[in-house]
Amino acid sequence: MQNISNYDFSGKKALIRVDFNVPLDKETMEVTDDTRIRAAAPTILHILKNGGSVVLMSHLGRPKEGFEKKFSLENIVEHTSNVLGVPVKFAGDCIGEEAYKMSSELAPGEVLMLDNVRFYQEETFGDESFSEQLAKHGDVYVNDAFGTAHRAHASTTVVAKFFPHDKLFGFLIEGEIKSVDKVLNSTDKPLTAIVGGAKVSSKITIIERLLDKVDNLIVGGGMAYTFVKAKGGEVGNSLVENDYLGVAKKIMQDAEDKGVNLYIPVDTVIADKFDNDANIQQVKIDVIPDGWMGLDVGSETAEACTEIIRSSKLILWNGPMGVFEMENFQTGTIAVANAIVEATSTGAFSLIGGGDSVAAINKFNLADKVSYVSTGGGAMLEYLEGKELPGIAAIRG
Ligand code: AMP
Repeated sequence: MQNISNYDFSGKKALIRVDFNVPLDKETMEVTDDTRIRAAAPTILHILKNGGSVVLMSHLGRPKEGFEKKFSLENIVEHTSNVLGVPVKFAGDCIGEEAYKMSSELAPGEVLMLDNVRFYQEETFGDESFSEQLAKHGDVYVNDAFGTAHRAHASTTVVAKFFPHDKLFGFLIEGEIKSVDKVLNSTDKPLTAIVGGAKVSSKITIIERLLDKVDNLIVGGGMAYTFVKAKGGEVGNSLVENDYLGVAKKIMQDAEDKGVNLYIPVDTVIADKFDNDANIQQVKIDVIPDGWMGLDVGSETAEACTEIIRSSKLILWNGPMGVFEMENFQTGTIAVANAIVEATSTGAFSLIGGGDSVAAINKFNLADKVSYVSTGGGAMLEYLEGKELPGIAAIRG
């Protein structure tokens, strides 16, 4: 199959959709976190090294309509050039004569950045004629913007149809897809998923899908208290979604029917207010007094989770075990992170996918000790849920 590693880029202009939606300092307009630029560098440098030239297109922020200086990609040209170690030219628009002239004059090894595709409303509408105009910049289309792969926008999806034989994933998307597919389709066992975070409601689709795949499902974070209450426990003032008590009961029943070991925390660290300086104590999770709320899992739970994770061969982690942003409630999340690191060091494959567990693993400086940390956010969640992402389907189709 044609892919970025075996495609012959020599003499070709690659139009790459990157996700350079990076945070900028409000005053200096300098890039404050260049993770996304660094993440796309392997794809860009590979194409340049193999005799191609590169036209970069991305969105930045949410401009209303038309040009706005603070959302111009010109703000990140210099930083991108520093990351890549090659000069980056800038076209003041993403379509139009001047931009076409610049892309057509690119020599092999050169890079051009187009301006924000979202300066045109046609981008988010997935307008076909706008997509065709974008397509004029390249001989081959490369999508390396996993974070926007779940959106059927012009530059992420529709443009691909104008490259029927020359459309590829970049290394970043390829890595994301491979790692989720590995977790969901590998026959290695046991497969353990740890699903935490605030609410059952936002994780329900993933949990339902995972029940068909996993051997162990650990529930943590704020959502655990809805399960505890559904089992008849007293959860005091903890976060509970009363509308989801029935859903929690059904998940517990489904897990039993499917032979999944569903682990619900047995103890918890409770606080008398949502504050790092609150009074705290550790109690059994089903006897939380009124006026107190569970903000982390307790030590017995942390130990049990560690045991389960340590003996797993495939691990998926989505969502923290507690309010890890506050020092006094991060112990459970650290325990899970350490157990994942330990399992990985003895041969397990571990995928950290979804917003806050990614933030947690970065906060604890353990990102390079797990197998894969997703940059995908919402796209990763939708892919895990089994939805077909338009940006991925457009390349595969
Ligand atoms: P999510 O985006 O759904 O993964 O939720 C992550 C958020 O859940 C983090 O900001 C955590 O602080 C929060 N969280 C985790 N455990 C609890 C808890 N026991 N009570 C309230 N919020 C929590």
